[in-house]
Amino acid sequence: MAEKISPGMQQYLDIKKDYPDAFLLFRMGDFYELFYEDAVNAAQILELTLTSRNKNSEHPIPMAGVPHHAAADYIDKLVDLGYKVAVAEQMEDPKKAVGIVKRAVTQVITPGTTIDHSNSVDNNFLVAIDCAKNQFTLAYMDLSTGEFRVTELPDFSAVVGEIASLKAREIVVGFELEENQAKILEKQMNLLLSKQYDFPENLLIDLSVLTGLENQVASKLLAYVKRTQMRDLSHLQEVEHYEIKDFLQMDFATKSSLELTTNKRENKKHGTLYWLLDATKTAMGTRMLRSWIERPLVSAQAIEKRMTIVQIFLDHFFERSDLIEALKGVYDLERLASRVSFGKAVPVDFLQLANSLSNVPAIKNILGLLGDQQLLDLEKRLDHLPELAQLINQAISDTASRTITEGGIIKAGFDEQLDKYREALQNGASWIAKLEADEKAKTGISTLRIDYNRKDGYFFHVTQSQLESVPDYFYRKATLKNSERFGSKELTEIEEIMLEAREKSSLLEYDLFMTVRAQTEQYIARLQALAKTIAEIDCLQSLAVVAEKYGYVRPKLTENSRNVTIKQGRHAVVEAVMGAQEYVPNDIELPEETDIQLITGPNMSGKSTYMRQLALTVIMAQVGSFVPAQSAGLPIFDAIFTRIGASDNLISGESTFMVEMSEANHAIQKATRRSLIVFDELGRGTATYDGMALAQAIVEYVHERIGAKTLFATHYHELTNLEQELEGLTNVHVATLEQNGNVTFLHKITPGPADKSYGIHVAKIAGLPADLLERADLILQKLENKPVPAKKTEAPEEQLSLFDFDENYSEVIELLKGQNVDNMTAREALNFLWQLKDLL
Ligand code: ADP
Ligand code: MG
Repeated sequence: MAEKISPGMQQYLDIKKDYPDAFLLFRMGDFYELFYEDAVNAAQILELTLTSRNKNSEHPIPMAGVPHHAAADYIDKLVDLGYKVAVAEQMEDPKKAVGIVKRAVTQVITPGTTIDHSNSVDNNFLVAIDCAKNQFTLAYMDLSTGEFRVTELPDFSAVVGEIASLKAREIVVGFELEENQAKILEKQMNLLLSKQYDFPENLLIDLSVLTGLENQVASKLLAYVKRTQMRDLSHLQEVEHYEIKDFLQMDFATKSSLELTTNKRENKKHGTLYWLLDATKTAMGTRMLRSWIERPLVSAQAIEKRMTIVQIFLDHFFERSDLIEALKGVYDLERLASRVSFGKAVPVDFLQLANSLSNVPAIKNILGLLGDQQLLDLEKRLDHLPELAQLINQAISDTASRTITEGGIIKAGFDEQLDKYREALQNGASWIAKLEADEKAKTGISTLRIDYNRKDGYFFHVTQSQLESVPDYFYRKATLKNSERFGSKELTEIEEIMLEAREKSSLLEYDLFMTVRAQTEQYIARLQALAKTIAEIDCLQSLAVVAEKYGYVRPKLTENSRNVTIKQGRHAVVEAVMGAQEYVPNDIELPEETDIQLITGPNMSGKSTYMRQLALTVIMAQVGSFVPAQSAGLPIFDAIFTRIGASDNLISGESTFMVEMSEANHAIQKATRRSLIVFDELGRGTATYDGMALAQAIVEYVHERIGAKTLFATHYHELTNLEQELEGLTNVHVATLEQNGNVTFLHKITPGPADKSYGIHVAKIAGLPADLLERADLILQKLENKPVPAKKTEAPEEQLSLFDFDENYSEVIELLKGQNVDNMTAREALNFLWQLKDLL
């Protein structure tokens, strides 16, 4: 039955066996071929023609191919879609091969390791996770910048949060995942999972800075990268330990609902805090700013350090302008360094390097002039690598291009031998000019010209009309439509000398270029350090530029009080989008003794905006940015928790309410007295009364047990009565202006509870029919006359039955009262909820 397999196919199968999870591109002559299932799938994804090998046999093998010169595009496309691609090259010249040409995989390109195609400045992080004895570890790396970090994490949800905020696409998994863990990573987060359970013991790493487990996960990551990349990784930076508690804690839901770095609508930067604060001029500055926003600080000292510099930049307009000009000339040093290390750097890359370095002295100079100690520290760290700058300036021609095989790379004076070849070429050029003039005179062909191209070499160009004057010592080289090309003995002699010089000089230039590239490798670590310092300076100037543009102030941060006093604060992004004239500023006052602010007010009045305003202001302050306010005093928060909006997690099949409750639970479990909680319309996702009951219980819990600063917007007007019972709770509402039955939202936060909900007015603005609105008004009046909860006293309208309660309601209240929420597991709580719902 077994069909005879050709030796070539056998070789393919042998290689493919090691890469079952990747598309294998198998180099055959000018094509990369795919076979079997790879061919069928790739043909569909890449719109290739599906053919087959040994068509006439009983079992033809499906085959599809891409031309080798276009392979990069196809690979990019597959990797972009989340696949892996293994590239098998011919390892010997087919002409010289005895038998089958040797082939081997030279690189595996995966979504987390691709570096070549990305023109975007964003990081592409490859993350590895590991777990032992319930302790999780996570390491991440960006192959294109060399960044490499590792941390320990308390639980799987923290792992998920880290992965999400790193926006990783591929996870190297070092342990056997539990089923639901795999489901979350693979299905919900749409990540490519790559296994790497083992690693060579001697791979890493300094155990004085890392724990054993951190060492293990970092080693696995490194092992995976070595296994797939099979190339020099000398640009990888030393692995660095970090701790999430050194940063303001925000889970993924919080970051995404506050739209810190990506907006919710299209998952893009536009309209986010990152978008607003980004006036950076360098690629590494842009990347660093993003990581600053993802990870605001908690150390007052570190925050003040950033703010001090922002202040100085703000105060020195001219120096800042010069600084910005200098930064504009600095290219992506991290990516350039990695291209050098990967052996992919081309001549223009060196020009960009040199150009970048030439701007560093100016930057140093400006920082020095400003004279502040913090700036002098930065200045000292700026290393302008004069040796490297000099090497490139002497070696690489200003007009060098991307090609490295055709000469034109190396400057005159850099290499004596090269100069000699070039002189020969120069001479040749004048010989040719002389020959051209001589032959013109001799033959009388007035338009005679000597030209060169790759195919025909040097030739005499003669137009049709003058063909009869061609002498007999010319021989024909080529015939074109309106002209012919001829050679001659003399021309051939010159040509041979020239071609030799040309070829030798190109080869020599190539060698010289390789030497320069190799020499540059030793500067990679210094280039990366320079890139970091520049990125930091760039972020700080960006914060200053934005602070000036929008009139931000430096907040006063206090470590030992918990006072929030913001005068005339604004929502940074909403203000930027709608314009400062339109935006109504608001004070936010949460004195030491006030933990909870209960915010009531009609729909669309500005409750959510007010709450987000505080969260964003806190984040900006802890990033080191100035904030949108007349003045701002803030404690340093350790974490921000939010429950905002209805973001159904459809993929995981969780209902809005379940998401709502698990986010609330997350906040309640993790928040401390130093946290900020933002709860927006909690309980909305379920029926009115159990929603309200839960909302109240949660407010009480936060008040009694946690004491976190909490903003709580609610449409349950009944909750405003809590002010009398809970000492640390105050009511505020959004003011409205009612005139002749019309309501204007003033967007102004005012003490005390709101008196009406104005839902009907909003419905009116939305254009609902007048008689419908009248009817709603009537129902409302009836409802408002009726104390809740109470038995019905009059025969209700049919529509009222929804709000009509019987003893079930009191039973629910009793059940709730009797339940010790503290002792419930999440599952019990959920069951309990179902029980309540059933009763209602
Ligand atoms: P709510 O949460 O009370 O329903 P939102 O906070 O969503 O209201 O605000 C509704 C709209 O009102 C926003 O889209 C915004 O355009 C506008 N708005 C809110 N706050 C302000 C403000 N302080 N100044 C100007 N416009 C505001
Ligand atoms: Mg709202």
